[in-house]
Amino acid sequence: MEKVFHFDSPREKYRADACVITCFDARFDLAVRKFLKRRGVVTFDHVKIPGGVKSLAAPECETDRDCVLRMVRTSMRLHGSERVLIVAHGECGAYPRASMETIIADAMRAAEVLRASEPTLAVECYFADFDGVYRVTAG
Ligand SMILES: [Zn+2]
Repeated sequence: MEKVFHFDSPREKYRADACVITCFDARFDLAVRKFLKRRGVVTFDHVKIPGGVKSLAAPECETDRDCVLRMVRTSMRLHGSERVLIVAHGECGAYPRASMETIIADAMRAAEVLRASEPTLAVECYFADFDGVYRVTAG
């Protein structure tokens, strides 16, 4: 093996402040990271998948949901995550021509799926738009 980059990464095991589920849309990376920091979430397990909430709320195949749930459970087991933050976003490629309301409804459905399968988790639901991050609450 040829070393092509030097960087010292921490060896210590960590406890995650949260497990965070987002879409892989890079436009929201900075806003989400700054928002998480503001919420006290600095060290986190990032489940970053195209469409984000869609895999939990309205998966194209049922195995997608199981896969995401498995990732969340792994975060709980390995890094003690007790909190999950779901961040949906505007103009998501997984939701062509869908309204913001449709995406938000799926974000809430995703939160319900998580709460139902892992009742001990504290699940928070958010929507990232191009001007900031909004908390999504039922009703
Ligand atoms: Zn997206």
